[in-house]
Amino acid sequence: MSKIFQSVKGTKDILPDETPRWRVLEQTVHDFMNRWGYKEIRTPVFEQTDLFVRSVGKDSDVVSKQMYTFLDHGKTSLTLKPELTAPVIRAYIQYNIALSGGVTKLYYIDSLFRQERPQKGRLRQFQQFGIEAIGSPHPEQDAEVITAAYRLLQELGIRTMTLKLNNIGNKSSRVRYRDVLIEFLSDHLDRLSKTSQERIKTNPLRILDTKNPEEQTILEKAPHILDFLDEDDRKHYDEVLTYLDQLGVPYEQDHQLVRGLDYYTRTTFEIISPKLGAQDALCGGGRYDDLVEDLGGKPTPAIGFAAGIERILLAMDEKNMDSLEPAPRIYLAAASESARSTIFKLGIDLRNAGLFVDFDILYRSLKSQLREANRLNCVSAIIIGEDELIEGVAQVKDLQSGEQTPVDLDTIADYFLP
Ligand code: AMP
Repeated sequence: MSKIFQSVKGTKDILPDETPRWRVLEQTVHDFMNRWGYKEIRTPVFEQTDLFVRSVGKDSDVVSKQMYTFLDHGKTSLTLKPELTAPVIRAYIQYNIALSGGVTKLYYIDSLFRQERPQKGRLRQFQQFGIEAIGSPHPEQDAEVITAAYRLLQELGIRTMTLKLNNIGNKSSRVRYRDVLIEFLSDHLDRLSKTSQERIKTNPLRILDTKNPEEQTILEKAPHILDFLDEDDRKHYDEVLTYLDQLGVPYEQDHQLVRGLDYYTRTTFEIISPKLGAQDALCGGGRYDDLVEDLGGKPTPAIGFAAGIERILLAMDEKNMDSLEPAPRIYLAAASESARSTIFKLGIDLRNAGLFVDFDILYRSLKSQLREANRLNCVSAIIIGEDELIEGVAQVKDLQSGEQTPVDLDTIADYFLP
Protein backbone atom coordinates (compact mmCIF):
# COMPACT_ATOMS: atom_id res chain seq x y z
CA MET A 1 0.00 0.00 0.00
CA SER A 2 1.36 3.41 -0.83
CA LYS A 3 2.15 5.86 1.93
CA ILE A 4 -0.53 8.37 2.89
CA PHE A 5 1.09 11.73 3.51
CA GLN A 6 0.11 13.99 6.39
CA SER A 7 0.68 17.72 6.71
CA VAL A 8 3.88 18.60 8.56
CA LYS A 9 3.62 18.95 12.36
CA GLY A 10 2.74 22.52 13.33
CA THR A 11 1.22 23.36 9.93
CA LYS A 12 -2.47 23.49 9.21
CA ASP A 13 -4.59 23.12 6.10
CA ILE A 14 -7.37 25.63 5.83
CA LEU A 15 -10.14 23.49 4.41
CA PRO A 16 -13.06 24.69 2.27
CA ASP A 17 -15.45 24.90 5.22
CA GLU A 18 -13.01 27.27 6.98
CA THR A 19 -11.86 29.48 4.08
CA PRO A 20 -15.05 31.64 4.10
CA ARG A 21 -14.24 32.75 7.68
CA TRP A 22 -10.69 33.62 6.58
CA ARG A 23 -12.03 35.60 3.67
CA VAL A 24 -14.43 37.57 5.88
CA LEU A 25 -11.55 38.33 8.23
CA GLU A 26 -9.21 39.34 5.41
CA GLN A 27 -11.84 41.53 3.78
CA THR A 28 -12.55 43.25 7.12
CA VAL A 29 -8.82 43.92 7.52
CA HIS A 30 -8.51 45.36 3.96
CA ASP A 31 -11.56 47.61 4.44
CA PHE A 32 -10.36 48.78 7.84
CA MET A 33 -6.87 49.61 6.56
CA ASN A 34 -8.32 51.55 3.65
CA ARG A 35 -10.32 53.69 6.04
CA TRP A 36 -7.31 54.26 8.28
CA GLY A 37 -5.01 55.20 5.40
CA TYR A 38 -2.67 52.18 5.43
CA LYS A 39 -1.39 50.75 2.12
CA GLU A 40 -0.79 47.05 1.57
CA ILE A 41 2.73 45.67 1.14
CA ARG A 42 3.75 42.06 0.28
CA THR A 43 7.31 40.88 0.79
CA PRO A 44 8.99 37.58 -0.27
CA VAL A 45 8.69 34.39 1.77
CA PHE A 46 12.42 34.29 2.52
CA GLU A 47 15.08 36.87 3.27
CA GLN A 48 18.77 36.91 4.03
CA THR A 49 19.24 35.42 7.48
CA ASP A 50 21.28 38.41 8.62
CA LEU A 51 18.29 40.71 8.27
CA PHE A 52 16.64 38.94 11.20
CA VAL A 53 19.83 38.51 13.21
CA ARG A 54 20.49 42.25 13.01
CA SER A 55 16.94 43.39 13.73
CA VAL A 56 15.22 40.83 15.95
CA GLY A 57 18.50 40.13 17.79
CA LYS A 58 20.75 37.08 17.94
CA ASP A 59 19.80 36.25 21.55
CA SER A 60 16.05 36.45 20.99
CA ASP A 61 14.17 33.13 21.00
CA VAL A 62 13.05 33.75 17.44
CA VAL A 63 16.59 34.04 16.06
CA SER A 64 18.43 31.67 18.38
CA LYS A 65 15.93 28.78 18.26
CA GLN A 66 13.06 29.20 15.87
CA MET A 67 14.23 30.14 12.40
CA TYR A 68 13.94 27.91 9.34
CA THR A 69 17.31 28.63 7.81
CA PHE A 70 18.88 27.04 4.74
CA LEU A 71 21.76 27.59 2.35
CA ASP A 72 20.86 28.74 -1.14
CA HIS A 73 23.13 26.92 -3.62
CA GLY A 74 25.26 26.06 -0.61
CA LYS A 75 26.29 29.70 -0.27
CA THR A 76 23.89 32.37 0.95
CA SER A 77 22.11 31.79 4.25
CA LEU A 78 18.39 32.42 3.79
CA THR A 79 15.54 32.23 6.30
CA LEU A 80 11.78 31.78 5.92
CA LYS A 81 10.46 34.95 7.49
CA PRO A 82 9.79 34.48 11.21
CA GLU A 83 8.39 38.01 11.62
CA LEU A 84 7.29 40.77 9.30
CA THR A 85 8.58 44.10 10.57
CA ALA A 86 12.18 43.54 9.44
CA PRO A 87 11.21 42.58 5.83
CA VAL A 88 8.85 45.57 5.59
CA ILE A 89 11.55 47.95 6.84
CA ARG A 90 14.06 46.32 4.47
CA ALA A 91 11.69 47.05 1.56
CA TYR A 92 10.97 50.56 2.87
CA ILE A 93 14.68 51.35 2.75
CA GLN A 94 15.45 49.45 -0.46
CA TYR A 95 12.74 51.15 -2.54
CA ASN A 96 12.94 54.48 -0.79
CA ILE A 97 9.22 54.28 -0.03
CA ALA A 98 9.42 57.17 2.45
CA LEU A 99 6.96 59.91 1.70
CA SER A 100 8.81 63.21 1.74
CA GLY A 101 7.96 64.84 5.01
CA GLY A 102 5.15 62.39 5.68
CA VAL A 103 4.38 59.23 7.60
CA THR A 104 4.51 56.00 5.59
CA LYS A 105 1.66 53.75 6.70
CA LEU A 106 1.90 50.14 5.55
CA TYR A 107 -0.05 46.98 6.33
CA TYR A 108 0.23 43.31 5.46
CA ILE A 109 -1.51 39.95 5.74
CA ASP A 110 1.10 37.23 5.51
CA SER A 111 2.49 33.83 6.60
CA LEU A 112 5.31 33.36 9.12
CA PHE A 113 7.46 30.41 10.04
CA ARG A 114 8.85 29.58 13.47
CA GLN A 115 10.11 26.26 14.80
CA GLU A 116 8.07 26.31 17.99
CA ARG A 117 6.57 23.49 20.04
CA PRO A 118 3.13 23.19 18.45
CA GLN A 119 0.08 23.47 20.69
CA LYS A 120 -3.36 25.09 20.56
CA GLY A 121 -2.83 28.55 19.06
CA ARG A 122 0.85 27.92 18.43
CA LEU A 123 1.87 26.75 14.98
CA ARG A 124 5.05 26.52 12.94
CA GLN A 125 3.44 28.22 9.97
CA PHE A 126 0.90 30.83 10.98
CA GLN A 127 -0.55 34.04 9.64
CA GLN A 128 -0.57 37.59 10.85
CA PHE A 129 -1.94 40.89 9.77
CA GLY A 130 -0.23 44.01 10.98
CA ILE A 131 0.76 47.58 10.37
CA GLU A 132 3.90 49.68 10.40
CA ALA A 133 3.62 53.48 10.74
CA ILE A 134 7.00 54.88 9.81
CA GLY A 135 8.05 58.49 10.33
CA SER A 136 6.49 60.03 13.45
CA PRO A 137 8.05 60.04 16.92
CA HIS A 138 4.97 61.58 18.54
CA PRO A 139 2.62 59.97 21.05
CA GLU A 140 -0.40 60.47 18.77
CA GLN A 141 1.18 57.91 16.45
CA ASP A 142 1.44 55.37 19.25
CA ALA A 143 -2.16 56.07 20.21
CA GLU A 144 -3.30 55.71 16.59
CA VAL A 145 -1.57 52.34 16.11
CA ILE A 146 -2.76 50.93 19.44
CA THR A 147 -6.31 52.15 18.82
CA ALA A 148 -6.24 50.64 15.32
CA ALA A 149 -5.32 47.24 16.80
CA TYR A 150 -8.03 47.48 19.44
CA ARG A 151 -10.81 48.72 17.14
CA LEU A 152 -9.99 46.26 14.37
CA LEU A 153 -10.16 43.34 16.80
CA GLN A 154 -13.53 44.68 17.96
CA GLU A 155 -14.71 44.90 14.35
CA LEU A 156 -13.66 41.30 13.88
CA GLY A 157 -15.99 40.31 16.70
CA ILE A 158 -13.58 39.99 19.62
CA ARG A 159 -15.75 40.95 22.58
CA THR A 160 -13.49 40.46 25.57
CA MET A 161 -9.84 41.39 25.48
CA THR A 162 -7.27 43.15 27.62
CA LEU A 163 -4.80 45.67 26.27
CA LYS A 164 -1.54 45.65 28.21
CA LEU A 165 0.81 48.56 27.86
CA ASN A 166 4.33 49.45 28.90
CA ASN A 167 7.21 51.75 28.05
CA ILE A 168 10.65 50.14 27.99
CA GLY A 169 12.47 53.41 27.34
CA ASN A 170 15.22 54.26 24.93
CA LYS A 171 18.41 52.21 24.60
CA SER A 172 20.33 53.96 27.36
CA SER A 173 17.50 53.77 29.93
CA ARG A 174 17.30 50.10 29.11
CA VAL A 175 21.01 49.51 29.64
CA ARG A 176 20.72 51.14 33.09
CA TYR A 177 17.68 49.05 33.94
CA ARG A 178 19.31 45.88 32.63
CA ASP A 179 22.22 46.25 35.07
CA VAL A 180 19.90 46.77 38.05
CA LEU A 181 17.72 43.84 37.00
CA ILE A 182 20.74 41.54 36.66
CA GLU A 183 21.83 42.54 40.14
CA PHE A 184 18.37 41.82 41.55
CA LEU A 185 18.07 38.48 39.76
CA SER A 186 21.56 37.39 40.82
CA ASP A 187 20.34 37.39 44.43
CA HIS A 188 17.71 34.77 43.46
CA LEU A 189 19.80 32.70 41.08
CA ASP A 190 19.18 29.34 42.77
CA ARG A 191 15.39 29.76 42.46
CA LEU A 192 15.47 30.59 38.77
CA SER A 193 14.85 28.03 36.02
CA LYS A 194 17.73 26.90 33.82
CA THR A 195 16.34 28.94 30.94
CA SER A 196 16.22 32.09 33.05
CA GLN A 197 19.73 31.46 34.40
CA GLU A 198 20.87 31.41 30.77
CA ARG A 199 18.83 34.50 29.92
CA ILE A 200 20.51 36.54 32.66
CA LYS A 201 23.59 36.40 30.47
CA THR A 202 21.91 36.88 27.12
CA ASN A 203 18.59 38.71 27.43
CA PRO A 204 17.69 39.37 31.10
CA LEU A 205 14.63 41.50 30.30
CA ARG A 206 12.98 38.43 28.75
CA ILE A 207 12.84 36.87 32.24
CA LEU A 208 10.13 39.42 33.06
CA ASP A 209 7.88 37.53 30.60
CA THR A 210 8.17 34.26 32.54
CA LYS A 211 5.12 32.04 33.01
CA ASN A 212 6.83 30.13 35.87
CA PRO A 213 4.83 30.90 39.10
CA GLU A 214 7.88 30.82 41.39
CA GLU A 215 9.74 33.26 39.15
CA GLN A 216 6.65 35.44 38.96
CA THR A 217 6.66 35.66 42.79
CA ILE A 218 10.32 36.66 42.79
CA LEU A 219 9.68 39.27 40.12
CA GLU A 220 6.95 40.96 42.14
CA LYS A 221 9.76 42.62 44.07
CA ALA A 222 11.92 43.37 41.02
CA PRO A 223 12.72 46.99 40.17
CA HIS A 224 10.29 48.57 37.68
CA ILE A 225 11.50 49.66 34.29
CA LEU A 226 9.28 52.74 34.50
CA ASP A 227 11.53 54.06 37.28
CA PHE A 228 14.47 54.07 34.87
CA LEU A 229 12.88 56.07 32.07
CA ASP A 230 14.33 59.45 31.28
CA GLU A 231 12.15 62.54 31.25
CA ASP A 232 11.30 62.36 27.53
CA ASP A 233 10.36 58.68 27.69
CA ARG A 234 8.17 59.36 30.71
CA LYS A 235 6.44 62.31 29.05
CA HIS A 236 5.86 60.26 25.90
CA TYR A 237 4.37 57.43 27.95
CA ASP A 238 2.04 59.75 29.91
CA GLU A 239 0.82 61.37 26.71
CA VAL A 240 0.10 58.00 25.09
CA LEU A 241 -1.97 57.05 28.16
CA THR A 242 -3.85 60.36 28.03
CA TYR A 243 -4.71 59.89 24.35
CA LEU A 244 -5.93 56.36 24.95
CA ASP A 245 -8.13 57.66 27.77
CA GLN A 246 -9.54 60.30 25.44
CA LEU A 247 -10.15 57.74 22.70
CA GLY A 248 -11.96 55.43 25.11
CA VAL A 249 -9.50 52.56 24.67
CA PRO A 250 -9.22 50.69 27.98
CA TYR A 251 -5.75 49.45 28.99
CA GLU A 252 -3.81 47.97 31.86
CA GLN A 253 -0.29 49.08 32.59
CA ASP A 254 2.06 46.11 32.79
CA HIS A 255 5.60 47.10 33.66
CA GLN A 256 6.83 43.58 32.93
CA LEU A 257 5.74 43.62 29.30
CA VAL A 258 9.04 43.68 27.40
CA ARG A 259 8.23 41.50 24.38
CA GLY A 260 10.70 39.13 22.81
CA LEU A 261 12.22 41.03 19.94
CA ASP A 262 15.23 43.29 20.46
CA TYR A 263 14.22 46.20 18.28
CA TYR A 264 11.54 47.66 20.53
CA THR A 265 11.98 51.10 22.14
CA ARG A 266 9.58 52.99 24.40
CA THR A 267 5.99 51.81 23.89
CA THR A 268 5.27 48.08 23.95
CA PHE A 269 1.79 46.59 24.01
CA GLU A 270 -0.06 43.35 23.76
CA ILE A 271 -3.73 42.41 23.51
CA ILE A 272 -4.75 39.17 25.17
CA SER A 273 -7.96 37.15 25.12
CA PRO A 274 -9.37 35.21 28.09
CA LYS A 275 -10.82 32.70 25.60
CA LEU A 276 -7.46 31.31 24.54
CA GLY A 277 -5.73 29.45 27.38
CA ALA A 278 -1.91 29.40 27.55
CA GLN A 279 -1.27 31.07 24.18
CA ASP A 280 -3.48 34.05 24.92
CA ALA A 281 -1.78 36.89 22.98
CA LEU A 282 -3.88 38.03 20.02
CA CYS A 283 -1.65 40.87 19.05
CA GLY A 284 1.64 42.46 20.00
CA GLY A 285 3.49 45.55 18.99
CA GLY A 286 5.54 48.52 19.89
CA ARG A 287 7.75 51.39 18.86
CA TYR A 288 11.08 50.70 17.16
CA ASP A 289 12.73 54.06 16.74
CA ASP A 290 16.22 52.72 15.94
CA LEU A 291 15.43 49.91 13.51
CA VAL A 292 15.35 51.88 10.25
CA GLU A 293 18.76 53.32 11.04
CA ASP A 294 20.12 49.97 12.27
CA LEU A 295 19.15 48.47 8.91
CA GLY A 296 20.98 51.16 6.97
CA GLY A 297 18.24 53.77 6.46
CA LYS A 298 18.05 57.36 7.67
CA PRO A 299 17.16 57.67 11.37
CA THR A 300 13.37 57.29 11.30
CA PRO A 301 11.04 56.58 14.22
CA ALA A 302 8.35 53.94 13.71
CA ILE A 303 5.73 51.84 15.48
CA GLY A 304 3.65 48.82 14.51
CA PHE A 305 1.74 45.76 15.59
CA ALA A 306 1.13 42.23 14.38
CA ALA A 307 -1.90 40.09 15.19
CA GLY A 308 -2.15 36.30 14.89
CA ILE A 309 -5.02 35.30 12.59
CA GLU A 310 -5.41 31.69 13.79
CA ARG A 311 -5.79 32.91 17.37
CA ILE A 312 -8.25 35.62 16.40
CA LEU A 313 -10.38 33.01 14.64
CA LEU A 314 -10.35 30.93 17.82
CA ALA A 315 -11.34 33.90 19.98
CA MET A 316 -13.87 35.68 17.81
CA ASP A 317 -17.57 35.83 18.22
CA GLU A 318 -19.12 33.47 15.66
CA LYS A 319 -22.08 35.77 15.02
CA ASN A 320 -19.83 38.10 13.07
CA MET A 321 -18.75 35.40 10.72
CA ASP A 322 -21.67 35.15 8.34
CA SER A 323 -20.20 33.72 5.21
CA LEU A 324 -19.37 35.98 2.29
CA GLU A 325 -19.93 33.07 -0.06
CA PRO A 326 -23.24 33.24 -1.89
CA ALA A 327 -24.61 29.75 -2.46
CA PRO A 328 -25.39 28.72 -6.07
CA ARG A 329 -28.83 30.09 -6.87
CA ILE A 330 -29.78 28.05 -9.92
CA TYR A 331 -29.33 24.36 -10.70
CA LEU A 332 -29.44 23.05 -14.24
CA ALA A 333 -30.85 19.53 -14.50
CA ALA A 334 -31.00 17.22 -17.50
CA ALA A 335 -34.23 15.24 -17.73
CA SER A 336 -32.88 13.07 -20.56
CA GLU A 337 -29.52 11.80 -21.79
CA SER A 338 -29.87 13.91 -24.93
CA ALA A 339 -30.15 17.16 -22.91
CA ARG A 340 -26.81 16.71 -21.13
CA SER A 341 -24.62 18.54 -23.60
CA THR A 342 -27.17 21.40 -23.86
CA ILE A 343 -27.22 21.68 -20.05
CA PHE A 344 -23.44 21.69 -19.91
CA LYS A 345 -23.07 24.44 -22.50
CA LEU A 346 -25.96 26.49 -21.12
CA GLY A 347 -24.48 26.21 -17.60
CA ILE A 348 -21.17 27.67 -18.72
CA ASP A 349 -22.96 30.36 -20.81
CA LEU A 350 -25.06 31.42 -17.82
CA ARG A 351 -21.94 31.63 -15.65
CA ASN A 352 -20.33 33.79 -18.33
CA ALA A 353 -23.43 35.98 -18.20
CA GLY A 354 -22.80 36.51 -14.47
CA LEU A 355 -25.26 34.04 -12.98
CA PHE A 356 -24.38 31.73 -10.12
CA VAL A 357 -25.27 28.27 -11.37
CA ASP A 358 -24.29 24.67 -10.88
CA PHE A 359 -25.07 21.48 -12.82
CA ASP A 360 -24.40 17.76 -12.83
CA ILE A 361 -21.43 16.13 -14.51
CA LEU A 362 -21.83 12.72 -12.93
CA TYR A 363 -24.65 11.63 -15.30
CA ARG A 364 -27.03 11.29 -12.36
CA SER A 365 -30.79 10.73 -12.61
CA LEU A 366 -33.14 13.74 -12.64
CA LYS A 367 -34.26 12.85 -9.13
CA SER A 368 -30.76 12.93 -7.70
CA GLN A 369 -29.92 16.11 -9.64
CA LEU A 370 -32.89 17.82 -7.95
CA ARG A 371 -31.81 16.41 -4.59
CA GLU A 372 -28.41 18.02 -5.18
CA ALA A 373 -30.15 21.33 -6.04
CA ASN A 374 -31.90 21.20 -2.65
CA ARG A 375 -28.69 20.32 -0.85
CA LEU A 376 -27.06 23.41 -2.35
CA ASN A 377 -30.07 25.52 -1.29
CA CYS A 378 -30.73 26.59 -4.88
CA VAL A 379 -33.72 28.83 -5.44
CA SER A 380 -34.56 27.60 -8.95
CA ALA A 381 -33.89 24.67 -11.23
CA ILE A 382 -33.72 24.81 -15.01
CA ILE A 383 -34.88 21.48 -16.34
CA ILE A 384 -34.43 20.38 -19.94
CA GLY A 385 -35.56 17.05 -21.41
CA GLU A 386 -36.45 15.58 -24.79
CA ASP A 387 -39.62 17.72 -25.30
CA GLU A 388 -37.91 20.94 -24.24
CA LEU A 389 -35.07 20.34 -26.70
CA ILE A 390 -37.59 20.02 -29.54
CA GLU A 391 -39.47 23.16 -28.46
CA GLY A 392 -36.36 25.20 -27.63
CA VAL A 393 -37.50 25.92 -24.07
CA ALA A 394 -36.55 25.05 -20.51
CA GLN A 395 -38.79 24.46 -17.51
CA VAL A 396 -37.84 26.89 -14.75
CA LYS A 397 -38.90 25.37 -11.46
CA ASP A 398 -39.26 27.43 -8.31
CA LEU A 399 -37.75 25.07 -5.74
CA GLN A 400 -39.77 26.52 -2.86
CA SER A 401 -43.25 26.49 -4.38
CA GLY A 402 -42.65 23.73 -6.95
CA GLU A 403 -44.24 25.95 -9.62
CA GLN A 404 -42.93 25.45 -13.16
CA THR A 405 -42.74 28.00 -15.99
CA PRO A 406 -41.53 27.34 -19.56
CA VAL A 407 -38.92 29.90 -20.67
CA ASP A 408 -37.41 30.31 -24.11
CA LEU A 409 -33.85 28.94 -24.18
CA ASP A 410 -32.65 31.97 -26.17
CA THR A 411 -33.78 34.41 -23.50
CA ILE A 412 -33.16 32.39 -20.37
CA ALA A 413 -30.20 34.49 -19.15
CA ASP A 414 -32.39 37.63 -19.33
CA TYR A 415 -35.09 35.85 -17.37
CA PHE A 416 -32.72 35.55 -14.41
CA LEU A 417 -30.65 38.67 -14.74
CA PRO A 418 -31.98 41.60 -12.72
P1 AMP B 1 4.98 38.32 17.62
O1 AMP B 1 5.35 38.39 16.17
O2 AMP B 1 5.71 37.25 18.36
O3 AMP B 1 4.99 39.66 18.28
O4 AMP B 1 3.46 37.82 17.68
C1 AMP B 1 2.37 38.60 17.29
C2 AMP B 1 1.13 37.73 17.32
O5 AMP B 1 1.27 36.63 16.41
C3 AMP B 1 0.90 37.06 18.66
O6 AMP B 1 0.20 37.92 19.52
C4 AMP B 1 0.06 35.86 18.26
O7 AMP B 1 -1.29 36.22 18.08
C5 AMP B 1 0.63 35.47 16.91
N1 AMP B 1 1.62 34.37 17.03
C6 AMP B 1 2.91 34.46 17.42
N2 AMP B 1 3.52 33.25 17.36
C7 AMP B 1 2.58 32.37 16.93
C8 AMP B 1 2.58 30.97 16.63
N3 AMP B 1 3.67 30.22 16.76
N4 AMP B 1 1.43 30.40 16.19
C9 AMP B 1 0.30 31.16 16.01
N5 AMP B 1 0.26 32.48 16.27
C10 AMP B 1 1.37 33.09 16.71
